[in-house]
Amino acid sequence: EVSTDDLLAWVRAFARLVEENREALTELDAAIGDADHGANMHRGTTAALAAVDGAPPASPGALAKKVGMTLVSTVGGASGPLYGTFFLRVGTALGDAATATPAEVVAALRAGIEGVVARGRAEAGDKTMVDALTPAVAAAEEALAAGRSWTEALTAAAGAAAAGRDATTAMVARKGRASYLGERSAGHQDPGATSAALLLAAAAETLLGRGA
Ligand code: ADP
Ligand code: MG
Ligand code: MG
Repeated sequence: EVSTDDLLAWVRAFARLVEENREALTELDAAIGDADHGANMHRGTTAALAAVDGAPPASPGALAKKVGMTLVSTVGGASGPLYGTFFLRVGTALGDAATATPAEVVAALRAGIEGVVARGRAEAGDKTMVDALTPAVAAAEEALAAGRSWTEALTAAAGAAAAGRDATTAMVARKGRASYLGERSAGHQDPGATSAALLLAAAAETLLGRGA
């Protein structure tokens, strides 16, 4: 079972990885955007962690909702509402239960992606965070459906997110600021797909070995 503490550990690890990769995220955004993705994500994850650390909400779902609301209200860029929507939908899907099973967590992550797509309208191959998030959740779904462990499912998800991130380099952006560059956006790794891979790396790092 995945607890509120497990989800808090995930958010804490994500905030740490964003902090460690802040400059790298900004450099990627400097190439095809407006050089603020590192600052945007750092501001958002710092505020989100502060909102739930110390006095954690009563359930994993409530914690995810609080994180989502904080991201929406503190990040000005495109990524804030999108990551915010992701966490809000995850929280709604998890509901008020004190713990969640791996299958429930993966279903909640799927709902989170659906929220991102409903809000941002990005399709696979548009060179966005969706290109890291979607293969990651698909990999986790496949692993659990095949009867593999939670640890294996999360490891597969993190690997698929990293591969999806890498695949954005060759893509031409069709959403967000990078799309203004047209063909010139190809040859650069997408900043949002890079932060999304950090989110999955944080999940694999902190939820590993739990829940199953
Ligand atoms: P902004 O572009 O407003 O400065 P950020 O730099 O924080 O915001 O985030 C840029 C990232 O947001 C992109 O690299 C991309 O992954 C993601 N993104 C932008 N638009 C969309 C969209 N419509 N759907 C999904 N992701 C998007
Ligand atoms: Mg930007
Ligand atoms: Mg911006």
